[in-house]
Amino acid sequence: MITEKELLAKIPTGLFINGTWRAAAGEKTLDVYDPATGEVLLAIADASVADGAAAMDAAAAAQASWAATPARARGEILRRAFDLLQERREEFALLMTLEMGKPLAEANGEVTYGGEFLRWFSEEAARLSGRYGVNPEGTGTMTVSLHPVGPSFLITPWNFPLAMATRKIAPALAAGCTVVLKPAALTPLTSLYFAQLLADAGLPAGVVNVVTTSSSSAVSGPIISDSRLRKLSFTGSTGVGQSLITQSAENVLRTSMELGGNAPFIVFEDADLDAAVEGALAAKFRNIGQACTAANRFIVHESVVAEFTERIVERVRAMKIGRGTEEGVTIGPLIDDRAVAKATELVNDAVERGATLHIGGAALEGPGSYFSPAVLSDVRPGSDILREEIFGPVLAIVSFSTEEEGVALANDTEYGLVSYVFTQSAARGQRMIGALETGMMGLNVGVISNAAAPFGGVKQSGIGREGGAEGIHEYLYTKYTMAPLG
Ligand code: NAD
Repeated sequence: MITEKELLAKIPTGLFINGTWRAAAGEKTLDVYDPATGEVLLAIADASVADGAAAMDAAAAAQASWAATPARARGEILRRAFDLLQERREEFALLMTLEMGKPLAEANGEVTYGGEFLRWFSEEAARLSGRYGVNPEGTGTMTVSLHPVGPSFLITPWNFPLAMATRKIAPALAAGCTVVLKPAALTPLTSLYFAQLLADAGLPAGVVNVVTTSSSSAVSGPIISDSRLRKLSFTGSTGVGQSLITQSAENVLRTSMELGGNAPFIVFEDADLDAAVEGALAAKFRNIGQACTAANRFIVHESVVAEFTERIVERVRAMKIGRGTEEGVTIGPLIDDRAVAKATELVNDAVERGATLHIGGAALEGPGSYFSPAVLSDVRPGSDILREEIFGPVLAIVSFSTEEEGVALANDTEYGLVSYVFTQSAARGQRMIGALETGMMGLNVGVISNAAAPFGGVKQSGIGREGGAEGIHEYLYTKYTMAPLG
């Protein structure tokens, strides 16, 4: 097994622009930390506005030849990248645990999930097709063809350092678009190592460019305003997404927005409680609660809420907190001390308003940004925790009596990413598909992400879909051509 030191020695620390690694202008660097220890892992290039412009130049220059590369050839590069990722699985998993804090087993799961986008879109590349027909008047032919939108700017968050990048890069490349990727400054190492993997897989220079920066707004602004850019795909918080949509208006960019969530997790009186408890633990504590799909509000029928709460508390008591590299750890550190402070404030606010805190809910002594997983019940209406995205290991429970009341509570949010429903009634399950205002739903399951499925939200959780048959269309435009018949 590779040691941490050996792995870090392999990670490129420059900017990846036009197929080469280079230092940032003025040799500026930014430090990347291990949230489990607070120590610096590596210093990497800190891009300036000029570096961002160089990346945009490279993507624009490579666009025509990449679009002209046969779809099969593009797909085969993605497939080679998938294979290389399997070979380097252990390294990518360890790297994500080091820079983001998630337990190693979950990091391994992310290598699988993130890799599936490479495989899926390697297959989709060759399946693109348009349609042809004669117009209803019988006077002309109508050809509908698909074309790459062009250079795309991809901005990713820190919580899934590999999967959020592959979920955008793979469909963009499959469609024939070149990209500039800007990963989050908190977890950029995985993207840098992944850029090297793409180069090793045979990706031509300039097709993928990676800029890491501590000045995300200053570096992104000119790229978004560049008239050669055609597409902005963003995953992150709703507030930043709203600002980026505004900026995208200038050049009427195509945008894909994967934004925040406030997922309801409804447990009906007819639920299989064993399954509901397992689903709840997965939906809440995966990634230490730091997932857009994390269940935020547990809406549990009054007849089962006491038992559900008791069983959850018992399981949370058994969770092992520690550095993600340690055997058996299920709760690693939060991403930084700000995240710990926010989780603490949300718990305190809920308790002050009358909720019962059953376990956890406090910052733990460092080094590292640790927070003890918490369970709250009887959370009162108006509590911040019901309105805000928690992004931490806090499970907040409210109860309800009728189906109408449960649905109303679930929909009482401006977000609409995912919902979870536990019921053994098929008819009720079907009713919930229609009733819940979310882009995705888990019916008797606590984890829904899959490369073959369209991932995305409604309301303020976003625009567009990633993955599935839909994902590649975010990077294609439709052209219709009319010609005389015969
Ligand atoms: P964030 O919005 O703070 O940052 C996301 C990315 O945007 C980072 O790369 C950051 O550097 C960059 N950024 C921030 N301000 C910017 C600006 N003004 N201009 C350009 N870029 C800017 O989010 P985060 O804290 O990294 O991630 C957590 C958030 O992401 C949560 O809200 C979570 O729900 C959301 N998320 C959503 C999905 C989804 O698929 N819907 C998936 C993962 C995370």
